[in-house]
Amino acid sequence: MKNVAILGSTGSIGINTLKVIEAFPKHFKVIGLSSFSNTSLLEKQARKFNPSYVAVVSDKKSKELDRALSKKNLKVLSGAEGLNIIASHSKVDILVVAISGAAAVYPLLAGIEAKKHICLANKESIVMAGSIIMKKVKRQGALLIPVDSEHSAIFQCINSSNISEVSQLFLTGSGGSLHRISKAHFSKLKVDQVLRHPKWKMGKKITVDSATLMNKGLEIIEAHHLFDIPIDRIKLLIHPEAVIHSMCEFVDGSVIAQLGITDMKLPIQFALTYPDRRKTPFQRLDFSKINNFSFTQPDIMKYPCLSLAMAAAKIGGTSTAVLNAADEVAVCAFLNGKIGFLKIPAIIEKVLVSHRFIESPTLDQIFESDKWAREESTRLI
Ligand code: NDP
Ligand code: MG
Repeated sequence: MKNVAILGSTGSIGINTLKVIEAFPKHFKVIGLSSFSNTSLLEKQARKFNPSYVAVVSDKKSKELDRALSKKNLKVLSGAEGLNIIASHSKVDILVVAISGAAAVYPLLAGIEAKKHICLANKESIVMAGSIIMKKVKRQGALLIPVDSEHSAIFQCINSSNISEVSQLFLTGSGGSLHRISKAHFSKLKVDQVLRHPKWKMGKKITVDSATLMNKGLEIIEAHHLFDIPIDRIKLLIHPEAVIHSMCEFVDGSVIAQLGITDMKLPIQFALTYPDRRKTPFQRLDFSKINNFSFTQPDIMKYPCLSLAMAAAKIGGTSTAVLNAADEVAVCAFLNGKIGFLKIPAIIEKVLVSHRFIESPTLDQIFESDKWAREESTRLI
């Protein structure tokens, strides 16, 4: 029996992780849960899974939860420090990092420091501070298993092969909600159209990123750090059927692909049970329903966010943190109806061009660049 802590348990990945844990009651016990401010769902989760610790970042909300759960034998932690306490707790065997955004960086580092088995869903932390994080993973000998479906696929394809035997990675993407919509219509796009993802059910921010292909750009940066592969050896393929979640080509020309249904519970289960595989209670691929596999190159002219991400990836340093922060602010403004769809890349480009670049930043400098980029994007909006 392994004790699992889920940071960000009230989000889409967190909820799916609890569904996987429920399916394997003999293997996993929930020991810690957290949210930013959603205490109503966190309270329900705490009553159902009986963790020893829950953390709420918002101080006011954590006091309310403490009162609501006063009869239960658990400790309610508050503030960002609560996340670090759970991440490094000696009773935690497996740490699931399902927090969204930059807030995942410090608890992730705390989990690495404590040499946990880490299931990492959060991608912003790697995009912002991939070099620093991966250096620490190597130094501590922590186990970092990716949950993002493409990276889970690549991890499984590489398996225990030597990375020097890998010639290139093919990262796939379905093309998002705008794959079949011409660029001529982009200036008039409505939020609900952009949020209609044909294959995956995800949160709003990542669904907009899938439509602009920024999500693929962030994933290329993520793959570069996680697998220590140069950016120019990671190729993006648009694969609308979304059956192949990514592929790895080896130096001998052999290509290994990972296939599966589009359900995040699968990569979550793999990350939790690694290095074992357990019989899944979830749906499986039905090949009788798949009649075609297609692959096309991404249309760079149609998706300027992808070019911006690739440019930031090649420059490295503080550029990727600035890209990530500007994207987050611009996407939020689009979702709130403050800017049109085409303004998203326009804002990111302006912020990237005017930022004060640092080649090998410290963590403090990364967070300063992140803060500056958020302020600058907000000013431009
Ligand atoms: P959600 O927005 O659904 O959930 C985010 C979770 O993090 C919630 O529990 C939220 O708490 C918590 N949270 C938000 N802000 C903070 C903060 N500042 N400090 C602490 N906790 C915070 O996100 P997703 O589950 O969709 O995604 C999580 C991560 O996984 C992201 O990095 C995303 O890119 C990545 N990912 C997601 C996929 C998906 O299918 N959804 C696929 C691949 C990767 P509260 O509920 O209180 O707001
Ligand atoms: Mg993904």
